[in-house]
Amino acid sequence: MNKRLCIFFSINLLLTIILSHPAKAEYYENARADEIYQKFDLVDYTAEEANALLTEYKSIIDNDDEIRQKLLVRLTCWNQPSETQAELDKAIQYAEQQLLIYAEPYPSEINTDLLLCLGYYKQYVGQMDGAFKDISTAISNAYQLENPRLIADGRSIRGAMESYQGDYATALEDLITAQHLYEGLNITYWANDNLNNLAASYRRFGDPETAIKYQTKLEQTYLNSGMLFEADNANVQIAFSLEELGRFKESNERFYKSLKFWQSQKETNAIASTQVNIAGNLIKQGEVDKALALLIQAEPNIPVEYDGQHSFMSLFFAKAYLAKNELDKALEHSQKASIDFKRGGNRRGESQNLKLQSEIYYAKGDIESAYKSLSAFLEMHLSLDKQIMSDRNAEMQTRFNTDKVLAENENLLKVSTVKELQLQIMQRNESLQIVIIILVAIILIIVSVFAYKQLKRKRKYQSLALTDELTRLSNRRAIYAQSEHFIKQAKLSSQPFSIILFDADHFKQVNDKFGHDVGDKVLMKLASLTMGMMRESDVVGRVGGEEFLILLPNIAHNTAMEIAQRLLDCIANYEWSHIAPSLVQTVSAGVATLEHETELSPLLLKADSALYKAKSAGRNCVISA
Ligand code: GH3
Ligand code: MG
Ligand code: MG
Repeated sequence: MNKRLCIFFSINLLLTIILSHPAKAEYYENARADEIYQKFDLVDYTAEEANALLTEYKSIIDNDDEIRQKLLVRLTCWNQPSETQAELDKAIQYAEQQLLIYAEPYPSEINTDLLLCLGYYKQYVGQMDGAFKDISTAISNAYQLENPRLIADGRSIRGAMESYQGDYATALEDLITAQHLYEGLNITYWANDNLNNLAASYRRFGDPETAIKYQTKLEQTYLNSGMLFEADNANVQIAFSLEELGRFKESNERFYKSLKFWQSQKETNAIASTQVNIAGNLIKQGEVDKALALLIQAEPNIPVEYDGQHSFMSLFFAKAYLAKNELDKALEHSQKASIDFKRGGNRRGESQNLKLQSEIYYAKGDIESAYKSLSAFLEMHLSLDKQIMSDRNAEMQTRFNTDKVLAENENLLKVSTVKELQLQIMQRNESLQIVIIILVAIILIIVSVFAYKQLKRKRKYQSLALTDELTRLSNRRAIYAQSEHFIKQAKLSSQPFSIILFDADHFKQVNDKFGHDVGDKVLMKLASLTMGMMRESDVVGRVGGEEFLILLPNIAHNTAMEIAQRLLDCIANYEWSHIAPSLVQTVSAGVATLEHETELSPLLLKADSALYKAKSAGRNCVISA
């Protein structure tokens, strides 16, 4: 094969190997998509941007890009519209459908996240049991997957739910765990959000001072980074804590600040919800009419499915009407509140409501019902108290356990860091493999080129060693070796084998008369004339200065004589004056045929003595040995 072709094929082959090597064909580069995902992950976007970002993300990822398609499903789930009952139902439906699609393998990051998303929406339509079940399953799956982010999300959401329902011990445990994880993962937004829930738990737990400490810090953080919605939430939480501390005026100022904020945002539901909070505050200060006016204003904008808002609105209505001695209305609202509190699993609220109900019945003169409500209140209050008592212990324990939780979390973070490192190492190894393959390929090419050149050089030297430089005929060594082979063959096949030894006549004179160059030309011409007359299977060699040997396998003596004669004639008749004017050149030959000889020397001796005879006979003649 041609040298270039050889290199071309080896490069092609190696390129095929290199290009087909990385099996991860399904990984797509998409920097913009990753940037958008990062924004969602760290909540680095405004509420208005969310939809546009999600649409862009969807439009720029490849259909076959499985990894990002899954992320899209997760983002879509968490960004479902969830204002109305119908929207919430749709969001739940979406999560359930996607869970069916991504059921396998179980658990996976996507089905764990979807389960969290499902549970998250369920809590807002009053499916508290379902919500707890889904979120708790998701949390244990997240532990199985050793995914700190999903664990943090799960425990933060569950902690907030438990806190709302009055289950403080477990709430604190969940929220503190989530807090450490978020901080460890450097996810500031959710760390702050979780801290907000943690603070609310302290308030509900009866420790509003601790709550205010965190909440004020949070409000400042949010204000500094221009996060107005989050800052408002912190402000409202501070208002609740102040109310708990009996600092009603300060509390109310904060509620009004929030009201202004929502009025500027034209968010009717948030406005109504704030009005309810203000009403509750006013009732505590005895400003019943003002409170009632606000409640009536708020009522059309608080849908019944928002059981959190609706329950407290009903409770405050009932309180206000009781104060105004409108007992039937008071009872009616209190009963509504009871339904809402039960639906939302809010035992703190229901406990307050039962106490109020008993007062209403008492005012109505229905002592029996008043007694029933009162004992129900006492029972719930005692159980809550008991829980708070045990929660206080639990809180202590939680605080003591913090070290343990911290260690566990650190471990978890370490595991995930190790996993990331492993992934990086694997990726690095992969590129290293490619580099090694390329290097090996280059080395292979260099080595093959070198080997090829070496081979050519070797062949050249070999042929040089066996060829006469001037005439390009076989040299003495080559022709002697070849003759051994022919002799063996002739013996084996009982075929004849003849040789012709011939020598240029008076060659010394040619050199003397015409110069050495012409002598060389004559030698070359003699070689080419001889070669032109011989068969393919014959071998012609230069065995001396102007002495040539012809090996004639399968040629009997007579034929060899004829061939020699023809050669002599041809040489004698050649127009030597082409080479030099008046130049004439003849040769003399001796012919010998193999008889009993087993090697060349005795045969050559015979031919040489015949040649000698030819010279003596006057040259330009053939003599048989
Ligand atoms: P004869 O007919 O008896 O063979 O006479 P001759 O002159 O040919 O024989 P001799 O042995 O006296 O001379 C041979 C000459 O051939 C001597 C040498 O200078 C010449 N010769 C040998 N090799 C070469 C060569 O390679 N080139 C040239 N130009 N001359 C050579
Ligand atoms: Mg001679
Ligand atoms: Mg000679």
